[in-house]
Amino acid sequence: MSEGEFDIIEGIFAAHPPRRSDVHVGAGDDCAVLAPPLGRRLAVSVDTMVEGVHFTNAMAPGRVGYRSLAASLSDLAAMGAEPAWATLALTVPRADLVWLREFHAGFDALASEHGMDLVGGDLTRGPLAVTVQVHGFVPCAGALLRSGARPGDRVVVTGTVGDAAGGLACTLDSVPASEEDRVYLLNRFERPEPRIAVGQALCGSAHAAIDISDGLLQDLGHILRLSHVGAEIDAESVPRSIPLRRLFGDEDSLRMALSGGDDYELCFTCAPRTLTELQRQFRASGVALTDIGTIVEVKGLQIMRRGAPIMAAQQGFQHF
Ligand code: ADP
Ligand code: MG
Repeated sequence: MSEGEFDIIEGIFAAHPPRRSDVHVGAGDDCAVLAPPLGRRLAVSVDTMVEGVHFTNAMAPGRVGYRSLAASLSDLAAMGAEPAWATLALTVPRADLVWLREFHAGFDALASEHGMDLVGGDLTRGPLAVTVQVHGFVPCAGALLRSGARPGDRVVVTGTVGDAAGGLACTLDSVPASEEDRVYLLNRFERPEPRIAVGQALCGSAHAAIDISDGLLQDLGHILRLSHVGAEIDAESVPRSIPLRRLFGDEDSLRMALSGGDDYELCFTCAPRTLTELQRQFRASGVALTDIGTIVEVKGLQIMRRGAPIMAAQQGFQHF
C-alpha cells in the first residue's frame, strides 16, 4: 500500500509499546528482535483466512481480527505451547480506518488475554485476506505431537463439536432458531476459544493431540495415520451442545459434530488414568473433557452407534 500505509501501521497496529520484556524490537523496524527463553523451544505456526472462503463479508471486522488470531492460537494449543508473539500480514481492498481499527481491537483483545505481542507484519492492497503467524514456547523435553497415540489410549474431545458448522449454517440459510440459540452457535463460529490452558496441561501427560479445524473425523484421522494406529469411536458420546441438537435434530447435529470444521476444540489421546486426572483438573474451569473412544492396534477408524458400525459419508473440509 502507498499513501497512509505508515500512518495506519503507526496509528493502529504498532500504536502501543510491547507488553512483553522479551520483545527487544517490536513492530516498526525492518525486523522484530525477540529473546526466546533459554531451555525451551520455539513453536511456530501460520494460517491464512480469506474472505469468501473462511468468512463472509457479513462478519464484523472485530470478529475477523479475533478469529484470525484464534485459529492460529489453536495450533499452539494443540502443541501444548505457551503463546508469546504474533505477526500479521493483512491484505485489504481499501484503507478503511474504521474497519482497520475494529479489526485490530478484536485481534488485540485476544492477544492481550494471552499476554501476547503483535511484533510486526505487512499491509497490502487486494482482496481481503488475513495471515497470522504465532510463536510460542514448548518444553525441550517435547511438544505434544500428532504421532504419539498408543493402543489402549482414550480418545478425548474438549468442549462440544459441530457448533461452528451450525453457526455457519445459521448465517447461510434461514434456520428457524430462537435468538438465544442462533447467537450461541454464531458465537461458536465467530469467537472460538483456543484451548491454550488445556493444551499446556496435556504437554507431558497426553500422548497425541490435534486441534479440530477441518472436522473431528478428518483431524482424528491425522493422529491415527501419523501414530500408525486405529480407533473405535462411539458416535453417541461425541459431545454436542443443546442448541445444536435442538436446531438441527439428532441426525444432522451428529453429522455436524463428526465432520463440521472450525470448532478449534482439541482432540487428544492419553492413558485412562491421565484422563481422570485431567477431568478433575479442568472441572472448575468449565471445559468438559469427553471420552469418545479407544485407540486400537488395527488401523482405520471404526465409528459405532448404538452397538452397530456406521459409515461417515463426509469426513470433513478440504480446500483442494
Ligand atoms: P518492510 O518494507 O521493511 O518489510 P513494511 O513497510 O512492510 O516494512 O513495515 C514497516 C514496519 O511495520 C515493519 O516493522 C512491520 O513489521 C510493521 N508492520 C507492517 N504491517 C503491520 C501490521 N499489519 N501489523 C503489525 N506491524 C506491521
Ligand atoms: Mg525493510
